[in-house]
Amino acid sequence: MRIVRYQQGNEAPRYGWVFEDKVGEIEGELFGVYRRREASLPLEEVRLLAPVLPGKIICVGRNYVEHAREHGAEVPKIPLIFLKPPSAILNPGEPILLPPQSQQVEHEAELVVVIGRRGKNILPEQAREYIFGYTVGNDVTARDLQRSDGQWTRAKGFDTFCPFGPWIDTEFDPSDAVITCRVNGQLRQMGSTREMVFSVPTLIAFISSVMTLEPGDLIFTGTPAGVGPLQEGDVVEVEIEGLGKLRNPVAKAG
Ligand code: ZN
Repeated sequence: MRIVRYQQGNEAPRYGWVFEDKVGEIEGELFGVYRRREASLPLEEVRLLAPVLPGKIICVGRNYVEHAREHGAEVPKIPLIFLKPPSAILNPGEPILLPPQSQQVEHEAELVVVIGRRGKNILPEQAREYIFGYTVGNDVTARDLQRSDGQWTRAKGFDTFCPFGPWIDTEFDPSDAVITCRVNGQLRQMGSTREMVFSVPTLIAFISSVMTLEPGDLIFTGTPAGVGPLQEGDVVEVEIEGLGKLRNPVAKAG
């Protein structure tokens, strides 16, 4: 099932599910008990929002060998994690804003895990029970500031630097899906989720040994090689085979 958050006109945002090209409302608790109403509203009549509002966004650095190499970095022996603030969340279709502090903002195409249950010290073999579904993300990064700061909070944390969506797929199989990034239609990144250094269950076990995972939390699982700069006027598309396509234009902040 594909889950969206959407808005019709000026109404309050709602959760919905997508069937063919129509949306039906979800009534109740998305991470608890809910009821699906008939999918009768055409998708083009609604505005799709970021499909969930996470309490925290955990990201994994250098989780593809070729991407670590392109930055001359070692592949980490244990997962390398960092956080993006929820204030960086961007809806599908809305512009990534280039901040004046950076001269080198780059795209990072990533598979994103959505957590469905509260958990601490989750074992890898139990991880599946804590996954609500998957979505498509772009871990937008100010590469020059990432290098100069050492700490990554500023480089990864600007407003609009966390686009994800357009939906959460609750049945997606992440074991071997092609992940691509195109800028203005030109292919920049292509890899398979099969090439991840640390698998999704390993990441969930590792992260939950540090912090309690909550329903709605996101895990950005790292990017394949080919990251590159974004300029004003570009359109960036991240696509994961069988999951969906996330599209955002790029504009200057202010
Ligand atoms: Zn990343």
